[in-house]
Amino acid sequence: MPNRLINGWLQNVKKVVSPFYNERPANTAITLLVVHNISLPPKHYGGPYVEQLFTGTLDPKADPYFHTIYQLEVSSHLFIRRDGEIIQFVPFDKRAWHAGKSRFNGRENCNDFSIGIELEGCDDEPFTDPQYQQLTAITRLLQQHYPIKDMTGHSDIAPNRKTDPGPYFDWRYYFSLLKQQDKGDDI
Ligand SMILES: [Zn+2]
Repeated sequence: MPNRLINGWLQNVKKVVSPFYNERPANTAITLLVVHNISLPPKHYGGPYVEQLFTGTLDPKADPYFHTIYQLEVSSHLFIRRDGEIIQFVPFDKRAWHAGKSRFNGRENCNDFSIGIELEGCDDEPFTDPQYQQLTAITRLLQQHYPIKDMTGHSDIAPNRKTDPGPYFDWRYYFSLLKQQDKGDDI
């Protein structure tokens, strides 16, 4: 599990630098964590295509679906695969392009003040325990560096456009894991 963060990068995780980021507005604290799901093609796991999408190198001929998305300029800070592998694309202090038109507690443009985490998955299937474990560890680590107060889903900040992370993302389990770690269990 990653336990160090230097200059906005997790240490000991795979790093794939995305061109799709920019500066956060001046004096904008990072207060929100946004959970997403993605799989490319949809519901297919383990391929190279999410990394390709987030680096602008997706081949539109590799799958019929890719025609509709290969020109998107999108990214997230992190991608957590089904087996728990973590890939980081954008340093946390920069603004990744994951939320799009969005609003949280009346505040627009969530990319400005959030960190985006994509879980490899879809709206129709549970996520894996390694994904919850990694997400929890990362949340705790990020909270040591940034004043993150809230965790939310993409569908909550863009309700008319987005459905991820979907009904199978178990918020109660995620929050219970966070609480357990709060107690300092270390067995
Ligand atoms: Zn999303």
